[in-house]
Amino acid sequence: MGSDRNPTYVLWTAVYGAAALWAAFIMIEGVPLGAWQVLVLMALLLIYFQLRSISFGEHFQYSLAMVIVFPAIFVYGPGAGALFAAFGAFVDAVSLRKSWDKTLFNIAQLVLSALAAAWMFEWAGGAAGTLSIPHGLLPMAAGALGYSAVNLGSVTFVVSRHMRTSWWSVIRNISWNGLLNYLVVGYVGSITAAFVAQWGGWGLLVFGTLLVGLTELLQIGLKVNSEQNLRRQAEEAMTLDAKTSAHNFRHLNQWLSQPYGEQEAVLFIDIDDFKTFNDRYGHHRGDEALRSLVKGIRKTIRDDADTVVRFGGEEFVVILPGSAAEEGKAVAERIRSQLRLLPEAGFEEPLTVSIGLASIPQDCDNRHDLLKYADLAMYQAKAQGKDRICQWCQEWGESESLLLRPRHAR
Ligand code: GH3
Ligand code: MG
Ligand code: MG
Repeated sequence: MGSDRNPTYVLWTAVYGAAALWAAFIMIEGVPLGAWQVLVLMALLLIYFQLRSISFGEHFQYSLAMVIVFPAIFVYGPGAGALFAAFGAFVDAVSLRKSWDKTLFNIAQLVLSALAAAWMFEWAGGAAGTLSIPHGLLPMAAGALGYSAVNLGSVTFVVSRHMRTSWWSVIRNISWNGLLNYLVVGYVGSITAAFVAQWGGWGLLVFGTLLVGLTELLQIGLKVNSEQNLRRQAEEAMTLDAKTSAHNFRHLNQWLSQPYGEQEAVLFIDIDDFKTFNDRYGHHRGDEALRSLVKGIRKTIRDDADTVVRFGGEEFVVILPGSAAEEGKAVAERIRSQLRLLPEAGFEEPLTVSIGLASIPQDCDNRHDLLKYADLAMYQAKAQGKDRICQWCQEWGESESLLLRPRHAR
């Protein structure tokens, strides 16, 4: 509401402020508070609840200020209620460095809400200072209703004026969480009022500090929760490759150190003549090709079980847990046909890949060998002329002469 305020909005805020002041003058006949200690305690608690608003995520911020304003209204009468409502709005405005018009609006809004609550409370048979449970509950509920109606109603009114939209569209934007918050805080405020009515300053002290304690506990819980979320996000980001969003080598290391299943297949993919591709179309286009390849691979594998890892520059490893060699080969073939659908495949220097395949238990019995054999099989595919799939063959051995072998068909 700050910077781009329009004249109608300012006018309405001023009218609203004047109305609130006028109503307050009519209703306030002195501030019949008890001992000054109670006044100070209430002010301190109000400052606390106003500053310690509870944030849920980025969008929801709830203040427990009503917890003090309600006892002021129901126990000490409309004058005290209006005073504390105005004080709460003032503290809020100072702490959030609100603009003067917003501050004026909030003070008017809360004072009017408090006065409406006092009026409804008396209308439903309540009398300030003679509150008791259970008889006081109904008048307090009526008061809370009056408070919420004026509060939400005035926000709706001013926002709809300001945004030049209908009341209805603003009302629809008030979430269920917001309404539920009103209900709960209104209830807690009423119970606080009952405590204060019953035990005066001591009731306020005992119940107030209980609420402070619970607020702090809730705050700690929320903080731990958001820290856990942050850590989880950071951990996830640490195992992702920034350029292609495939998993990175850190993920591969974790995978290598974890226990393996009875059956597992791995593909080692290396782009053919990628240096030439880069030289011809530039590294920017090369990077796009890497991302396209990862997207293409993702389309051919199972979302939940399989993973694609960027091993290094233009080399990728696809992990297929629970898959036999035949399934691995089928996935490799799907990756190659998917590749032909990418824009980069239509280039004069088309994007093709060489894929090596190895599997547990056919070729080996551990992940380190699995990765090594898939890699060696990929080199075999290169040696055979690139743009093909090669399955690891035990007779090859691991000799360095592998790459020098004549192209032998498999
Ligand atoms: P081969 O068919 O034998 O695999 O030939 P190649 O050109 O693909 O292999 P080589 O290892 O000679 O070159 C790999 C190239 O991959 C070199 C480098 O420019 C390119 N490359 C590696 N990482 C990236 C990257 O992040 N982005 C881009 N655009 N290119 C990369
Ligand atoms: Mg390479
Ligand atoms: Mg290459």
